Amino acid sequence: MVSGIQAAGNYHLKPEMIAPGTYVLSGRNEHFNFRNGGNIVNTGFIVTKQGVVVIDTGPSRIYGEQMRAAIAGITDQPIISVLNTHLHPDHFLGNQAFEDIPIGALPGTIEGIRTQGEMFNDSMYRLAGSWMAGTRVVIPGETLKPGTLEVGGHRLRLLALDGHTSADLVILDETTGVLFASDIVFNSRTPTTPHADVGRWLKALDRLASIEFDILVPGHGRVESGAKRFEPVIQTGKYLGWLSGTLSTAAEAGKSMAEVLHPDVPQWVAGQAVFPEEYQRSVVHLFPDYESAALQRGLVEQQ
Ligand SMILES: [Zn+2]
Repeated sequence: MVSGIQAAGNYHLKPEMIAPGTYVLSGRNEHFNFRNGGNIVNTGFIVTKQGVVVIDTGPSRIYGEQMRAAIAGITDQPIISVLNTHLHPDHFLGNQAFEDIPIGALPGTIEGIRTQGEMFNDSMYRLAGSWMAGTRVVIPGETLKPGTLEVGGHRLRLLALDGHTSADLVILDETTGVLFASDIVFNSRTPTTPHADVGRWLKALDRLASIEFDILVPGHGRVESGAKRFEPVIQTGKYLGWLSGTLSTAAEAGKSMAEVLHPDVPQWVAGQAVFPEEYQRSVVHLFPDYESAALQRGLVEQQ
């Protein structure tokens, strides 16, 4: 038996209070593997007078169940609502543990989970092994619209953004000033891009930079507050700008994908967690589009 598999079963989830009634369960700044069981993600919950609102459910059935138990260890309030920020497996595959509760998501997320959820579930089995035992896709049943939700004394503003995927839900608790930024923001961890539109993502980051908030909960990486709260927003944008510039310059120069996989990188890029692996995945996802754009520009110039 592989030693990592022996550890499977307990995520040791410890909710950390970041604001009144507001908790985060922080994942590791790593790739999915047999040791972390897919727990590379930040999930959260808000305890209101009316009940608990859960934000993302983690990468597996077991995670969802242990998250639910961790919530029960904090409050007797019932869970009244679960929100999925986007279609990536580490954010929704714990839904199964909350099947008796309304699960809401943006329309694009629901559609994405419907069409790609099983594929994500299969690939998580390959990446995290027995941690995924018994996990099945539960599609959110409630369609969310952007706007404001009043829940038990908390005013939650739902923002329908996109760019990391075609539908990225960001939640601002106007009562506590906590911004659950979903995967629009990564902190000190190389962003993932399998469904990214970099231009749209940069616009979404501009939007977040213009919002008043006090505490930032990124989809991955450390929670930040005070003067540091905007840093991950800026850092994510800076990385995406660097990524786009690197791929575009390489495509214009007619470089091959193999050459682009090993570029010269500035230290602030190389110092991020999961670099270069996540960058190399991005090259595979995105470089063909930059190549065809460069080719088209070339053809236009020759006319
Ligand atoms: Zn994601």
